[in-house]
Amino acid sequence: QREQLPRRKAGVVSTMAGTKALLTLENFINGKFVPCNSYIDSYDPSTGDVYCRVPNSGEEEIEAAVEAARAAFPGWSARSPQERSQVLHRLADLLEQSLEELAQAESRDQGKTITLARTMDIPRSVQNFRFFASSILHHTSECTQMDHVGCLHYTVRAPVGIAGLISPWNLPLYLLTWKVAPAIAAGNTVIAKPSELTSVTAWMMCKLLERAGVPPGVVNIVFGTGPRVGEALVSHPEVPLISFTGSQPTAERITQLSAPHCKKLSLELGGKNPAIIFEDANLEECIPTTVKSSFANQGEICLCTSRIFVQKSIYSEFLEKFVEATRMWKVGIPSDPSASMGALISKAHLEKVRSYIKKARTEGARILCGEGVDTLSLPPRNQAGYFMLPTVITDIKDDSCCMKEEIFGPVTCVVPFDSEEEVIQRANSVKYGLAATVWSSNVGRIHRVAKKLQTGLVWTNCWLIRELNLPFGGMKSSGVGREGAKDSYEFFTEIKTITIKH
Ligand code: NAD
Repeated sequence: QREQLPRRKAGVVSTMAGTKALLTLENFINGKFVPCNSYIDSYDPSTGDVYCRVPNSGEEEIEAAVEAARAAFPGWSARSPQERSQVLHRLADLLEQSLEELAQAESRDQGKTITLARTMDIPRSVQNFRFFASSILHHTSECTQMDHVGCLHYTVRAPVGIAGLISPWNLPLYLLTWKVAPAIAAGNTVIAKPSELTSVTAWMMCKLLERAGVPPGVVNIVFGTGPRVGEALVSHPEVPLISFTGSQPTAERITQLSAPHCKKLSLELGGKNPAIIFEDANLEECIPTTVKSSFANQGEICLCTSRIFVQKSIYSEFLEKFVEATRMWKVGIPSDPSASMGALISKAHLEKVRSYIKKARTEGARILCGEGVDTLSLPPRNQAGYFMLPTVITDIKDDSCCMKEEIFGPVTCVVPFDSEEEVIQRANSVKYGLAATVWSSNVGRIHRVAKKLQTGLVWTNCWLIRELNLPFGGMKSSGVGREGAKDSYEFFTEIKTITIKH
């Protein structure tokens, strides 16, 4: 077995044997690529082969990055928002010029389909820089009239300093740039740590920074595992702010490590997202969208639907059509443009997802399609890849682990409900509160239900449509804080109230 660590695709210190042809990444510190003393292997999810070596960085590399970020801060933070905005626009243009190359790299590294990488991941990464390049120009400070004692009060905002940014493997460049862009737009310098499982596109972006005009030390990217380099970053006393996207257990650890330094934290975590389908829903739109919301990116998006509540009067019709549409969802090698779903991130993750299906079976649930029911055929070279079919489970109780825990794979449960009140209570009964979708043609009902759902996002009659200006984030165990134009700006700056007595 190549994989030794649970939940890890990378994590084994590279033996260097047969590494000649392997892509070898380097850390990017103070505007330069720097080799590391040790490396970890990273696997191609579609073949199970090692194809890349990722620096196994630790405290030493974090020290060097902090030094670079500290030195770059006075110059970068003193630039006007307009100057910083121009740099972000140039970086967006350069990323866009490399769109195809980046999409291919992302698809290979993560296992996502090339179509998704081309149409979502990389275009959104470009958009992240453009969006924050523009939005940084529109923030204004508050000012009050002279008060009764003759004072003028106003606020100013200033960058916090060195921002620590930690991102997950499911949307690698998309989520990394969603943090880097607002942090540097606001005048901070950053140390980013991408997931050790998907580091390639972050490393490719580093090659563009100098041409975009990002001064050395403003963006430092340090690769490696969470427990080693991630913790070194979080614990560093000169990094006052951590923006983290990932799982809830890791967020708990980050919170503990940050506590002694009272760090500013933004935590974007997992979900157990419900779709609520009322009898007056337009099923022609609802069914394909709900298949997509359940299985896009192999179900490895924090916003994916994993509990589908269907009103009893349309339950049988929905189930039949939903299973039929799921069976049409093609699993293929990530580079196949006709594939709807690629490979899961790692062997360990595939096994974890499968174990949930086994548990559901032992609890008496029915698997209607997918894992253990249908057969998956792939080209011989890809037999060792981490593939599985999209799976639909029914006849399952609300207290089953498949209905409560985040599976983060292509598995969704479909259950019936009777009334509006009942379904709201059941949808809210889990510890997570990230996103919900509601399908109905009754506008009054949509407003009522959306208001009562305990989630940071509610999509009605659609899924994954984002307005980047508006807050993004979850309630309960799905996170702390929000991201977006105003929210990210507020997080990456400190506010000061100034009072002048005349
Ligand atoms: P993870 O928590 O295992 O890892 C996320 C990042 O944290 C990685 O870079 C990892 O190396 C690092 N890390 C791990 N342990 C660490 C530690 N002790 N100290 C510091 N850093 C550490 O999560 P994952 O498996 O990469 O990602 C999947 C999770 O992310 C899911 O729960 C998913 O729902 C969530 N997610 C949430 C959002 C959102 O916006 N809410 C978006 C995408 C993914």
